This record gives sequence, C-alpha cells and structure tokens, in this order.
Amino acid sequence: MHNNIAIFIPHKGCPNQCSFCDQKVISSVQHAPTSKEVMQICQSALEQVKYPRNTEIAFFGGSFTAIERSYMIELLECVQTFIGDGKFSGIRISTRPDKISHEVLSVLKYYNVSAIELGAQSMNDEVLMKNERGHTSEDVCISSKLIKEYGFSLGLQMMAGLYGSSIDLEYETINKLLSLNPDTMRIYPVAVLDGTKLAEYFHKGIYILPSWESVLNFCADALCMCYKNKVKVIRCGLHAEESVSSKAIAGFYHQAWKELVESRMYHKAISFYLKKHSDEKNLFISVSKGCISKAVGHKKCNRQYFENMGISFKIKEDIALQSGQIRIGEEEYNVFEIAGIAGI
Ligand code: SF4
Repeated sequence: MHNNIAIFIPHKGCPNQCSFCDQKVISSVQHAPTSKEVMQICQSALEQVKYPRNTEIAFFGGSFTAIERSYMIELLECVQTFIGDGKFSGIRISTRPDKISHEVLSVLKYYNVSAIELGAQSMNDEVLMKNERGHTSEDVCISSKLIKEYGFSLGLQMMAGLYGSSIDLEYETINKLLSLNPDTMRIYPVAVLDGTKLAEYFHKGIYILPSWESVLNFCADALCMCYKNKVKVIRCGLHAEESVSSKAIAGFYHQAWKELVESRMYHKAISFYLKKHSDEKNLFISVSKGCISKAVGHKKCNRQYFENMGISFKIKEDIALQSGQIRIGEEEYNVFEIAGIAGI
C-alpha cells in the first residue's frame, strides 16, 4: 500500500487565484515550512512509518515548480538524506501544468523526484478561463507528455462541477486526461469555499451547481473508467479537514465522499441487474469480504432506494468473491465494470 508524507507549501509561488482555491484553508497551514521543519517532519515519519519503501515525501499545496527557485532547491536538498535504502522511496510534487519545462524536469530528476502531479482541473479551455486557471488544456497535454518522457510517474487531478462546466464536459475531461496515460488520478468534486470567487458567483446566482446525484454518478463512472484504463485513483473527494468543512458553503464536500461513490457503484450494479430482471422483488446478493456496507449504502441509502421501489434484498459476504465482485441471483458482476455503462 502506498503512503505519502504530506508537506504543504501554501500558495508559495502561485501567481494565480483560481476561482475555487483558498489553498491556505485547504492545507490548514499558513506558513511555508523551513528546511529544518521539513527535516523534522521526515525524521519523525521515518520513525513511525511501517513501510518507508512504499512511502513518498510529498510536497503538496502550492505550485512546487513555480516557487522561488532557491526555496525549491532548499526543500529538495533537505529531504535527500531521507531517501534510499531503508528510507522513503522518493519525492512527489504537485504543480501547475504551465510550470513544467525541460530545465525544471532535469532539476527534479537530479533530486530524486519520482512523481509529478498536475492540477489539470478541466480539459475545456472555456472552463479553465472562466475559473481563472491561467493555463490551457494544451499545457496539460504538453507537460504530461514531457513528464512521461523524463520517466516520472504522472499524476493528473481534475475538479468536477466548476463554474461554466457541465456533466458532459466532465466526461470529456476524464476521457482526455485518461488518453494522456497518467499513472494516477485525483478526482475532486468541487467544494465552494467561503471567500473564493466561486462563493461570490454562487451568492450572485451566476454559478449554479450541478445536482448532487449527477456529480456522484459522474464520480462513480470516472472511478470505473480509471479502473478499466488501469489508472490508480489515489483520491476521490477532498481531504477531511476541519477547515474545509467549516468554510465549505456549497458543493460536494462530504467526509465520506469516496464511500458514497463506492456505494453508488453497487447501486448501479443492482440497477443493472434489475433492468434485466424487472419482475424480481426479492434479491439475494453476495459481495466480497468487507463490502456489505458499500452495497447497503451510506446510511443504508441503497437499501432505502430499492425498498421504495418495492424491492428488498438479503445480503451476505462471500469470501470466494474478489474485491468489487457482486453476485445477484445467478449473475455475477464486477462493480467497476458495470458503472460507466450508458443508462445505468
Ligand atoms: S494555481 Fe493552484 S495554488 Fe494557485 S490559486 Fe490555483 S489552485 Fe490555488
């Protein structure tokens, strides 16, 4: 299992103020860490982490390759002593798609950076412009290609539900991002934070959020599309930070978003079965170990939904089933393959 030692570099070097972003809120840290503090974080993590070999030191939060160069080098240099045999596997950074070049990639390679994540957010130029991202979809394509050429692991991040977007455009975005062959993806449904441009648009009524259902369905489909493309989804939903929940005035912030999305995948699998067996009113369902709560749904939402349609189900675990497998009656599916099918 992969882990990160997350070190947040809030707003450092970022010339933008994207419509949705209050990085200081998201990271809960207002202060850019010194190299001494970074080393302390790494040292104590090294003493506590069980499998450092599966762990990367992760500089998140700002636009790492856009921060003042001397500070960027200072951060990279101070963690070198924590990388290698019996220590952490490498360094992970996140940055903007327009802040990648041959020169900066050579520097990152030299300092053992292993993975680069780009905040793509959308692959629609109008959406990017409306949300003041300051880069284009072409920047995402060019930088992704370069990152792969240099042999880094490529991570792409998208945000669903931005101002000016639509669910159709979210599907376009995930398709375009997957065509760039990322190794990992992060899928964030938008959270409207107080004090941001999005909040202002929302209060003025010019930003109308898509429905909760449509975003949940999209995220379930997006997870499946990543699975089918063998792309690992390392996050679906924002981190459960106290500061985010207290500042989110609208949007799709939920502490258990990933669980909601997984429940939706089971919901889709049951719906798929019922489409073919519309006369069945009592379902016998088996799921893999530990997956009953996903099938029943968050606060039993799936059970409730189907009961309202006059359909009840009995559910049990079957340890012979692989993770994600579900058996309904005589039929067996993988929930990752069912979600994403049109009309489900
Ligand atoms: S580029 Fe990143 S850090 Fe800067 S404002 Fe936009 S989202 Fe926030």
